[in-house]
Amino acid sequence: MAPETSSIFHDLQLPSGRRVQVPTGLFIDNTFHLAVEPSETFETINPVTEAPICSVQLASEKDVDIAVESSRKAFETVWGVHAKPTWRGQLLLRLADLMERDAQSLAELESLDNGKPVSAARDFDIAESIACLRYYGGWTDKIAGQTIPTDDLNKLAYTLHEPIGVCAQIIPWNYPIQMWAWKTAPALAAGCTVIMKPSELTPLTALKLCELIVEAGFPPGVLNCLPSTGPIGGAALSRHMDVDKIAFTGSTATGRKILQEAAQSNLKKVTLELGGKSPHLIFASADLDKAAEQAVLGIMFNMGQDCCAGSRIYAEASIYDEFIEKVAARAKEFSAKVGDPFADDTQGGPLVSAGQRDKVWGYIQSGINEGAKAMVGGKGWDGKGFYLLPTVFTDIKPGMKIVKEEIFGPVVAIGKFETEKEAIELANATTYGLAAGIQSNDHRQIHRVTSALKAGTVWVNQYGILHNNVPFGGYKQSGIGRELGSYAISEYTNVKAVHWNFS
Ligand code: NAD
Repeated sequence: MAPETSSIFHDLQLPSGRRVQVPTGLFIDNTFHLAVEPSETFETINPVTEAPICSVQLASEKDVDIAVESSRKAFETVWGVHAKPTWRGQLLLRLADLMERDAQSLAELESLDNGKPVSAARDFDIAESIACLRYYGGWTDKIAGQTIPTDDLNKLAYTLHEPIGVCAQIIPWNYPIQMWAWKTAPALAAGCTVIMKPSELTPLTALKLCELIVEAGFPPGVLNCLPSTGPIGGAALSRHMDVDKIAFTGSTATGRKILQEAAQSNLKKVTLELGGKSPHLIFASADLDKAAEQAVLGIMFNMGQDCCAGSRIYAEASIYDEFIEKVAARAKEFSAKVGDPFADDTQGGPLVSAGQRDKVWGYIQSGINEGAKAMVGGKGWDGKGFYLLPTVFTDIKPGMKIVKEEIFGPVVAIGKFETEKEAIELANATTYGLAAGIQSNDHRQIHRVTSALKAGTVWVNQYGILHNNVPFGGYKQSGIGRELGSYAISEYTNVKAVHWNFS
């Protein structure tokens, strides 16, 4: 790797041989800066080699104040109600074009920082992010209120849907570019200004995208980006008195802290996309080959580091033995394709960090210790990198940690049920409610079970596929509010009711 060019840019040679210059400073007013306290930095680590990639400036509370001031100024002068809706849309569409132009180098950088395969980053995360920017680019001139008839015939009553203001957006490491797009696109479309705080584990693509923000022509201050840790930068944003909204994706524990900070400061609006322990129900009428394929993809995609991963599978007793054999075969096929994220046919890379690898390994050990049977996997990884191969547990019991807690890794627990009622009870026996899946060919059953499941998303005869125009979010402790679709636009707008007496 080449030596650092300065503290706010770093020259990298990627494993493909491609050279990129990555910004490593704080992005405020369309320029990269040193932190106010420049000795404050953190390192981001390559999960394949376990070596540091580079050090990144760490935003402190003072930097947060500077960024909020910039965002407020942009909101009150050049963005929000001061920016023509169609122009906001054009900027988002231009940003999408630039992301498409740079898709390969962004995918490689994402892979370097996160460990996911380059092909998945390019063909899934980035392709979906481009589509998300385009979807919301089309929304900007369609955000409208209502005219409302009242019994006062001399009155015109109507609503205006106005941008909320300065929004801080705190995102996790599992889909760094896609979470960036899900958050920024509806906020910018609605006319909010954004302060993005990427995860300290994967800050590089969020910073690289800031260069595209400038190139697309967004005015200074419309999007600022503050790399920082959660307890420093994230907490400072959550309690800031001049931040109007926090949009967060991450763990339920952190979501709770953010809500508390918001409640104790200025009661800023909060939307939360949190964890899950999503059930996937396999009924006897299902096509078992397809069900096994969906079941394995539903948990192994992104190495299980996915909030809606189908981590609890329940199969009807009459087909249970046949089904678990099919899952085991497919899980082994997947395991054979875990490896170098820069190789074309790799389907899974390392987990994001040593901490995440250790956490998941702890769950695998607890499953074994509590008496579950590791039909596939259950072993550690000897070589370099934060790798863990997929594990399929059977012979599970409801109280086991692997059944109750979110693992966020390639580990699935498969149980069985005798009746539809029991399947529904097992599925809903969780504090989470993000997603669920059903495999069945009985249409009446599909309707009954879909209605009974307490989850924000239910897939029928597929798993894990989302669309930018369909809302996503959680029941119960999986979150507050919705992302994507028209629902996300509502989350970034205030409703103003106007009563106009024209008598
Ligand atoms: P995390 O909650 O530790 O971190 C997420 C983000 O929050 C990071 O940017 C982090 O810096 C920040 N943060 C941490 N502590 C904070 C604090 N006190 N105040 C403000 N910000 C803080 O989660 P993670 O480990 O990055 O991600 C894994 C978790 O996220 C999993 O539990 C997963 O289920 C969840 N997740 C949910 C979704 C969803 O859409 N519901 C998507 C991805 C991940």
